[in-house]
Amino acid sequence: MLPPGLADRLRALADRPDPRRLDRDPLGLVRQARDKETSALLGALLAFGSARSIRRSLAIAIEAVEAGRPLGRGFRHRWITGRDIDRLLDRVREARARHGSLEDFFLRGDDGDLGHALDRFAGGLRGPRPGRGLRFLLPRPGDGSACKRPLLFLRWVVRNGGEDLGLWRRVDPARLLVPLDTHVHRIAYGLGLTSRKTPSWKTALEVTASLREADARDPARFDFALAHLGILGDCPRSPLPSKCAPCPLRPWCRAWR
Ligand code: SF4
Repeated sequence: MLPPGLADRLRALADRPDPRRLDRDPLGLVRQARDKETSALLGALLAFGSARSIRRSLAIAIEAVEAGRPLGRGFRHRWITGRDIDRLLDRVREARARHGSLEDFFLRGDDGDLGHALDRFAGGLRGPRPGRGLRFLLPRPGDGSACKRPLLFLRWVVRNGGEDLGLWRRVDPARLLVPLDTHVHRIAYGLGLTSRKTPSWKTALEVTASLREADARDPARFDFALAHLGILGDCPRSPLPSKCAPCPLRPWCRAWR
């Protein structure tokens, strides 16, 4: 059970616009791209490392995709190479050619359990003999991973509110799980939304179950605002009076209880 008042405060936080968020988020670039679905997949799967490096790599990738060029040897995002991305894009093209759309490709493995659907989606895009790059880019819930980046992709394409894209219309947003990045997990743990100290698929289930008490039809709506409390430096790793005093979540935060 969420403590009294927290659900209202989370809803107010999620609904409060903050123009700084899109400027620092890969979603800002995705929203400007011509092929938003492909750009969303690349932006979400490359969302590891600093916000600045993610946006830099994504801008290069989107430009290549829109020019119809392979990324090839010239591209690298941390340990992911241009060849890895080119292989992923080949798999996406095959999936679209065979199933009609990426959403149909996702739905072909959907038995009503989001974990199973995502497992089959990631497995299908990895293909039969994935290298290290594709295995990293496409983690699977069956391995226990929190699957932050695939869940971020789903949030962007399924949710049709706030900054998200609403490109897919046949997946119910109520089924989404919160993509647990390091900030979201830390804040969720501090608010008592989970008792698990490490992010995992089970942790994502637990945090989302808590957030469903604030919005059962759209539990992922809180993700963008919570993540950006951390990304923008408004929620420090260790509590700081100067940062925490104006924080709307302070009355419920473990650091100050
Ligand atoms: S009170 Fe401080 S530590 Fe707690 S969520 Fe707010 S900014 Fe973060």
